[in-house]
Formats: sequence, structure tokens, C-alpha cells
Amino acid sequence: MDIRRLVKKEVASLRAYQAKEIPCRVKLDANESPYGFPSALTAVKKIQTNRYPDPEAKALKAVLAKDLGVKPQNLLQGNGSDELIYYLIATFGGPVLYPVPTFSMYGIISQALGEKKKEVPLDRDFDIDLDRMMTALRKEKPKLVFLSTPNNPTGNCFSSEKILKIIAESKGLVVVDEAYQPFSSDKGFVPLLHDYKNLVIMRTLSKIGLAALRFGFLIAGEEIIDEVNKVRLPFNVNALSQAVAIEALKKKKALQAAIREIAGERDKMLLAMERIKGVMPFPSEANFILFRVKDPHKVYGLLLEKGILVRNISDAVSGCLRVTIGTPRENVLFLRALEKIA
Ligand code: PMP
Repeated sequence: MDIRRLVKKEVASLRAYQAKEIPCRVKLDANESPYGFPSALTAVKKIQTNRYPDPEAKALKAVLAKDLGVKPQNLLQGNGSDELIYYLIATFGGPVLYPVPTFSMYGIISQALGEKKKEVPLDRDFDIDLDRMMTALRKEKPKLVFLSTPNNPTGNCFSSEKILKIIAESKGLVVVDEAYQPFSSDKGFVPLLHDYKNLVIMRTLSKIGLAALRFGFLIAGEEIIDEVNKVRLPFNVNALSQAVAIEALKKKKALQAAIREIAGERDKMLLAMERIKGVMPFPSEANFILFRVKDPHKVYGLLLEKGILVRNISDAVSGCLRVTIGTPRENVLFLRALEKIA
């Protein structure tokens, strides 16, 4: 039996997301935090393993709502923000518009769900090309626009003014993906939530030390949350993740200290990379740095030979690799290796 013949054509032409596990000494490829919260794991002891988790994640949402100054009704929980991208596109459909290069899941999920996607290149500074985005907005009339700011993989924040113009012009929803906002000097869009009915903000705990939990959330008007909630699978966030997230979020000082440390290391790393001949790093507001080298495949391979794993982004941004900020020691090991190779 030819299984491929049974598969929907949009899915047949997709390739599975490559989250390869490559053995290494220093793992700087996935924009994780080098600092976890093992003490928060004690929270799982209270869990009744025979019971389903709280389907609404009420306690966790209450903590987040208080931290963000919104109502729990403005939040929707996801098994990572990846799942929420899926839910948004399943709820509203396409066309889906986003600038490129950006986070690959906007395109992959649009295609998997058979929705039209429109990609508009960023400008030379990796900022939004407003003219082209406005033209695409008028022509395509997208139901959803995704804007990752800071943007993965370029690391910069998009101009807030341009984002606001897009929100004002759009007849559909604009999803501002703030996965890396904690590392940015930008305040983010939560304070503007009540000014724009079509604004959706997406956050995740994955970059701040809790990637293992798979927890992301939407912040939006109640009407939007209620619609997306219709496609959410029951019990999508498991009890262990809910309990550990609540415990970890109580450790505000430790969370903030880790974020500050990573942002400080990033700024130091950028300066150090700028001094290496043959390496052109781009400024970053996230927990990673994009950098251009002459031969990215070779540099990637030589770094890996030294046990250092980074991400080869050269398919999306020519000549570029992306390195996640690690501990100070990991960063030194990376810099030393890069210096030797370059
Ligand atoms: N948005 C952006 C911009 C990302 O880079 C990532 C992770 N690579 C995600 C969303 C997904 O994060 P998660 O599913 O772990 O919450």
C-alpha cells in the first residue's frame, strides 16, 4: 500500500521539524537557558498521578495574570507556544502573513493546515519592510500576521512604530511573538493590549529556564481567547508542567537574575565576536547572536569537532550561524574555538 498517496498533498510535501539531538560538550543551538530550576521539581510530589490535570490551568494562569497585570480570562495556555501557533491558524485560518527570515513554525503549520502563507522579506537591517508589508496586507487580506520581536533568528527587535502601523492597518489579527522579550530592552506589547482589539501577544517559558515543561501562553482580548479555546485539546498542559511552572515563577528574583546575567553575557559576547576577524555578529536583544562567516558549513563542522554545537542558519540567512548564550564558561569556550577557527 502506498501510504504517501493517502497523505494530504500539503503534508506530503512537508519535512518533519528537525530537532536533532547531536552529541556535544557545549550545547548552544536551541536558544535554551543554561540555568534551570531543579528546586521547583519538588512541586510534582503533590500531584495525584491518577487524575487529569486542571484543564484550565487556573492556578498557573492566576500567577501569570498577576505578574502581567491582566485578567486570567485574557490568557490561553499552550503546550509550548508552538501549539498556540497551531491553534491560532486552526481557529482563524489563512492567509497567514509574516516577514522572513523568521521562526519557521509559522510557515510549517500554515502549510500543514492547508492555509495560504505569504512571506515578505525583511529589509537590509532585518527590520520590517513597511511598504511591502502594507502592500501584502492590502492585497492578501491576511487573517493572521505573525511578528517575532525580538526576531528569531536575526535577534533584533522590529521597530515598534512599524508594528503599530501594521496592527492599525490589519483587518485580521496581529500576533506579536514575544518569546525573547525577557532579554530585550523593549517593554513589549502587553501594556497596549487594551488599545488594539486585534492584538495577540504570545509568550513562552521555554527561553527562561523551563523549556522542559513545554509551556507557552497567549495574551489577548477575551473574545479572541474564547474562540481559540474552542480548538484547544482538553488537558493540553500536563499536571507536572503546571505545578513546576507555578513553583518556578514564585522564584522571581532567581528568574530575573538569570535573565540579566544572560543579557549581560550576550552584550559581552557581541563585543568579543566583533573583535574576531572574519566574523560579523549582528546586534541582539535576545538570548542568541546571529553571525556571518565566510564558510558557515565549515565553521559549523569545526566548532562541532571541538564539541560546540551551534545552529547552522545559512539556509535562511546566507552565510550565517546562530549561537545561544550559555554560561560564562561555555561562552568562553565558544569564543576561544571560534577565534582559532576563524
Ligand atoms: N516563537 C519563537 C520566535 C521561537 O523562537 C520559539 C522557539 N524556538 C517559539 C516561538 C516556540 O517556543 P515554545 O514552543 O518552546 O514555547
